[in-house]
Amino acid sequence: MSSRSSFIVVGAGVIGCSLADELSRRGHAVALIDAGEAASGTSAATFAWINANSKSPDEYRQLNYLGLQAHERASALGARWFHQTGMLQVAASGDEASQLERNVSNAALPAYGARMLTRSEVLELEPGIDPDVVVAGAVYPREGWLDVPTMCASLLEHSIARGAQYFPFEKVVGLDGSIVRTVAADGTERSHTANAVIIAAGNGTPSIARSAGLDFPLIDPEGNADAAGSPGASVGIISSTGPVAFGPRHFVRATGIAVRPARNGGVTFADHPTGGMWGINDPEIWSVPNLLLERVRRLYPSLREASTESVSLGKRVLPEDGLTIADWIDPANRIYAIGTHSGVTLSAHLATVVADEVTGGGRHESLERFALHRFNSAATHGVKAPAR
Ligand SMILES: Cc1cc2nc3c(=O)[nH]c(=O)nc-3n(C[C@H](O)[C@H](O)[C@H](O)COP(=O)(O)OP(=O)(O)OC[C@H]3O[C@@H](n4cnc5c(N)ncnc54)[C@H](O)[C@@H]3O)c2cc1C
Repeated sequence: MSSRSSFIVVGAGVIGCSLADELSRRGHAVALIDAGEAASGTSAATFAWINANSKSPDEYRQLNYLGLQAHERASALGARWFHQTGMLQVAASGDEASQLERNVSNAALPAYGARMLTRSEVLELEPGIDPDVVVAGAVYPREGWLDVPTMCASLLEHSIARGAQYFPFEKVVGLDGSIVRTVAADGTERSHTANAVIIAAGNGTPSIARSAGLDFPLIDPEGNADAAGSPGASVGIISSTGPVAFGPRHFVRATGIAVRPARNGGVTFADHPTGGMWGINDPEIWSVPNLLLERVRRLYPSLREASTESVSLGKRVLPEDGLTIADWIDPANRIYAIGTHSGVTLSAHLATVVADEVTGGGRHESLERFALHRFNSAATHGVKAPAR
């Protein structure tokens, strides 16, 4: 069996769904292929914090800021998945407040709007927080969280309505020039051809690239963390409670814990800032959700009866230097690939600028720093901890 289109997008996570939407909106014939269902990879286990907060280097922070702005524009056009609650950071001691003040004044992005809060302002904005754990705080009003399943389902639906073909449960097993070979869940083999192939298969991208003799430098998410927390630091734990009567109004971060409203009316919570310190096979990993729930209950006494309803282990898509890769990996055969952490924040912006590039519009200046050739120098092959 075979299919032909203008563009094949491999991977229906936040990146692939956003690209399929953008390319189909521009009138191109798109085939979107995924080994599972849409948003079932890393995009199913993400904290989905939309931010350009404390990211480095500057080009990466700027890229994330463009991502935030692209989500704001989508919201203004009627998209309903970016919940721009603002992010409220709690300082529990004088030292934490000084640190926070430095972070707020270092927020060099104009119009980001970050500002310090007094203790009473924090408690007014988040009345559920235990007053005993607040000394001061800060608010980042343009940040928030994104409802990933709704976004992916909606973008997919729009793409299909414009004629895109969707092939779920079809695994890409090889690239032969620009011919994409797949095997479906029932064993059916198929080949897809197109004028260009964009691989946005998250942690599946390196093995697809390898099948064509190409290198795509991601950290192996199954690797174990070393004593310094890297390079195996790509596993994170996201938990949610059942519905609650009185939860956080904002995206809230405090020492050792971050919480936000959940899709089910409950609370989604994750570790902060030590997330990603476990190997995926470490049995200790399963003690983390209870530990974090205790921290949630301490921060929000009204949640002392809340219990955990779901836990997801997410494997970060982490290029070897922690930064985004968006580039042609085989220009002759018109094969492009994207691999990035912070992909929820970046998805809407990347979709626009990558669509420009693969349709012949040239490279956007925001992508200059994120080309593949930076890995050609041995000096850049050192592995860093994840850029948040
Ligand atoms: C714990 C955690 C917390 C995070 N928090 C944030 C956050 O707060 N803010 C933020 O912006 N980002 C965050 N991220 C990062 C963000 O979630 C990811 O960058 C993003 O989800 C990556 O999306 P993707 O589309 O590239 O990959 P994925 O969502 O993994 O999608 C790739 C798709 O490709 C498919 N695939 C793989 N191999 C094949 C194959 N051979 N054939 C066909 N299909 C294939 C998979 O089935 C999958 O559906 C977090 C990540 C984790 C793990």
